[in-house]
Amino acid sequence: MSGTVELLAAVALLMAVLTAVLVSYVVEAQRRAQSWIAMFLLAMMGEMWISVVIYFSSPSGSRLVTGLSVSGALMVATVVPLVVGLARERFPGGDAPAGPASGPPRLPLSLGVATALLVLANEFLMSWGIQVTLGTAIASGGALATLTAVVDSPWFLFTMAAEMLLSVYLLRHRLPRAMIGILLAQSAIMLFSPPALGGTVWPALAIYVSSAVMIGLFVFLFEFLYRHRQFAPALANYLVELVGVYGLMMAGLFVWLYFGSGTLFGLSIVLEMVVFYSAVARPDGFSAGPGTPWQLRSDWTFALLSFVFVAELCMGAVLSVQLDPADYLGGFPFLPLSGAAGTVVLNAVSNGFWFFATAAASSWFLIMMGLEMGTLVVLKFRETRNRENRIRLGLMMGSYAAFAVFYPSIYFALVFPNAPNPATVPVLGWSMGIGSYPLAIGVFGVLLLSYAITGALTVLFGRRVICSVFCTAPLMYQGTTIDAMKSFNRSTRIGHKYLGSRFSAAYSITTGAVMTALVGTSILSYLNSTGATNITIQGNDPSVFFFVLSFSVAWYVLFVAIPYVGNYNCVTMGWCYTGTIAQAFQKVGFFKLKVRDRQVCRDCRTLDCAKGCPVGLVDMVGHFRTKGEYRSTKCCGVGDCVEACPYGNLYIHDVRHWIRDRLGLPRGSARGTTLPMVRPTAAAPPVPPTQLAGEGAPLGARKSGTP
Ligand code: SF4
Ligand code: SF4
Repeated sequence: MSGTVELLAAVALLMAVLTAVLVSYVVEAQRRAQSWIAMFLLAMMGEMWISVVIYFSSPSGSRLVTGLSVSGALMVATVVPLVVGLARERFPGGDAPAGPASGPPRLPLSLGVATALLVLANEFLMSWGIQVTLGTAIASGGALATLTAVVDSPWFLFTMAAEMLLSVYLLRHRLPRAMIGILLAQSAIMLFSPPALGGTVWPALAIYVSSAVMIGLFVFLFEFLYRHRQFAPALANYLVELVGVYGLMMAGLFVWLYFGSGTLFGLSIVLEMVVFYSAVARPDGFSAGPGTPWQLRSDWTFALLSFVFVAELCMGAVLSVQLDPADYLGGFPFLPLSGAAGTVVLNAVSNGFWFFATAAASSWFLIMMGLEMGTLVVLKFRETRNRENRIRLGLMMGSYAAFAVFYPSIYFALVFPNAPNPATVPVLGWSMGIGSYPLAIGVFGVLLLSYAITGALTVLFGRRVICSVFCTAPLMYQGTTIDAMKSFNRSTRIGHKYLGSRFSAAYSITTGAVMTALVGTSILSYLNSTGATNITIQGNDPSVFFFVLSFSVAWYVLFVAIPYVGNYNCVTMGWCYTGTIAQAFQKVGFFKLKVRDRQVCRDCRTLDCAKGCPVGLVDMVGHFRTKGEYRSTKCCGVGDCVEACPYGNLYIHDVRHWIRDRLGLPRGSARGTTLPMVRPTAAAPPVPPTQLAGEGAPLGARKSGTP
C-alpha cells in the first residue's frame, strides 16, 4: 500500500504541474483558440478521474464499464464547446475578437470563471479518486459530508497549494509585484491547512503557521492601502473577496476545532480557490487604471475592515482553543440550541455575544492584534518627526504590551494563580476595571488610588495619558492605515455630526446614557458585594457585564464602523465612560494646544493641523488665529496636528511649559517658520465654509463649544 501511496502522490504532483501549465496557457494564449484547447485538456483531465471514482468506489467489471462509458461520453460531449469556441474564433461575430498583436488578449470574465471552476472540479475529482483508490473511508452523510471529506484531505489541499504556487511562478511576469506576494501567501495558507492531516503535531503547526502568514498578509494589505489610496477596481474586488474568504476560513477552523465539523472550512477552501484562480486567470485587470480612492468608499472600506476583523476574532478563538483549551472552554458559556423557537433564538444571541466577548478579551487575540496593529504603529513611527510624538508612540506601544498582554495574561496568572477572572478585577491604571464585586470593599482603595494617580496625571499632561498612551484603543487607531481613515470623520454623514469641540445633542445623549449605566451598575455591584442585593446579568456582576459590553463588544463593532462614523469614535461620540471621566480632569488641567505665531496661522492656506486631527477637531484653526491657543476636552493629545503643521508653528502645552513660564526659563524655538507667504499686515483670510467640514460648519468661524 505504501508503494501505491507514493505512486498516487507522484500522480497528484503531475496533475498539479499539468494544471498549472494549462492554466498559464489559457491566460497566455495569443489567440482565443489556444485558450479553448487548453481548457479542453483541463476538462479531459477531470473527466478521466470520474471513471476512477466510479470504479474504485465499488470495484467490479460492470462498474469499470460504467466508469469508462461515463468518462468517454463526457469527453465526447466536451468536444462540442471546443468546436463552438474554435468556430467563433475562425468566424468572429458573437465572441470577442482575437487579441492585439502586442500581447495576449484579456480573458473574458466567463472564461476566467470557467477556468477556475475547471481547476476546482479537477482537484475535487482527483482527491476523491485517490481516496477511493486507497480505500479511505469517505463519510457517509450525503453530498455535504462527501464534499467535506474530499476537500479537507491532504490530496486536495497539498496538491492545490502546489498548483497555486506553480501558477504564480508561471504567470509572475503578468502579475504586479504586490499581487505576487499576496498570491504566494494564499498558497502558503492553503498548504498549512490544519484539517489536512490527523494527529496533534500537524494541526498545531498548521494553525500557528497559517495564523502567522495571515497576520503578515493583513499587515501587508493595510500598509498597501496606506501607500496606495487608489488602485484598479479588479484589485479592490479581489482584496475584499480574499479577506471575506479568510473570515470564513477562520470561522470554519474554529468550528472544526471546537465542534469537529470541517464543512465550513471546506467551503472556505473552495471559495479561496475560486478567488485565487479568478485572479490569476485575468491578471491584466490588476494593472488597469485606478478606480475611486478607498477613502471615498465607506462601503468597501467597511467590508474590508469587517472581514479582517472576523478573521482576527476567529483566529483569536482558534489560538485560545489550541493553546489553552481548559481556560477558553471554561470561559465560554455555550447554551444549547434546542427547545422552543424563542429559546433557540435567545440562546443563539447569547452564544454569539459571549463568543465575541470571550474571543476579543482573550490573550491570544490581544497579542495578535498587538502584533498586527503595533506593526502599523511602528511604520507610522518611522515617519514621525516630532520628538514628543515619537516618545508618546513608544510609550503607547509599551503600555499595550504591559496592560493588554503582560499584566492580565502573564503577571496575574503567575502572581495570583487563584485570583478571580481578570475581567472582574480592577487593574491599576485606568484599565476600566470597575468590577469590584468579587474582591468586595477592600478593592475600592486600589480603585480610588488608581483613579487618583491617573486623574492627577491627566490634570498635569492632559487626557493623552489615558486616551493616547495607557488605553489599548490608541494602538488600534494610530497605525498608518487606520489613522488615514480619519478622513471619514469629515466625509461621512455621521462623522460630520461629531466634528469640532462642540458637544452636540447626539453626543450628550450618548454620554448621559453611558454615565448613567456606569453609576447604576457600579451601585448594583456594590450592593451585591454587601449582600443587600443579588442581581446579575447572565450570571455576571452588572458592572463587569457593562465593561464587557463596552470594551469587548461595542468598541470593536464601532472600530469596524470607522468608515461610517469616523476614527477615534469612542472620543468623538462620547460613549466611553473612562474617556468622559478623563475629560473632566482635562477641563481643569494645564493641557492645551498653542501656536508660536498667530500671524502664521492667519496666513496659512493649508489648514493641515485640522485635517490631521483624528478626533475631527476642525475648529482649532479659528482659535489659533484669534487666541493663539486651543482648549478642547475632546482633544486627546495625539499630536498629529503638531506633526501636520508645515510651519512647525504648533506645540502641546502642559504643566512643563507652565512651570517654565513661571520660572522664566527659555522654551526652545520661539516662532514657527515664517515663510514668504506670511504677510505680517495681511488680514486673516476667510476660510471657505466647506474646505474641511464639508457642507456647513464654517471652519474657524464656528463658535467654540469647549465646555
Ligand atoms: S475614550 Fe476610552 S476607549 Fe477611547 S481612547 Fe480614551 S479611554 Fe480609550
Ligand atoms: S497650526 Fe500650522 S497648519 Fe494649523 S493653521 Fe496654524 S500654520 Fe496652519
